[in-house]
Formats: sequence, C-alpha cells, structure tokens
Amino acid sequence: MNTPAFQIKCPSCGKQHTYSTDNPSRPFCSERCKLIDLGRWANEEYAIPVPANQAEDSDNLPD
Ligand SMILES: [Zn+2]
Repeated sequence: MNTPAFQIKCPSCGKQHTYSTDNPSRPFCSERCKLIDLGRWANEEYAIPVPANQAEDSDNLPD
C-alpha cells in the first residue's frame, strides 16, 4: 500500500513541504522549526488559560 505524498504548511515558518512519515520533525519542515515552535511554548507566546483552582494549587507548593 502506497500513501501518496501531500503538501502541508509548516506550522512554524509556513513553508510548504511534503508530509512524510520519514520526517521525524513532522508536521514541521525541519528539526529547527520544531525547536522554534517548542521555544514559543516555553516563552508562553501562546497564552494558555489556567483554571482558577489550578492557580490556587500553586500556593500549596513547598518552597
Ligand atoms: Zn518550517
């Protein structure tokens, strides 16, 4: 069985590239773009709403 190659847009740089299961960085076009995207998460560029009860839990963390 042969899966036809298809073009997808890299979520990081927006470049069109061929989606391949051989690409360990998919759906990103490259390892670099994958790392860039992970870096965005680390920098909280994507705002993630924190449930109020979860925020309160952080007060109970040992210092
Ligand atoms: Zn890319």
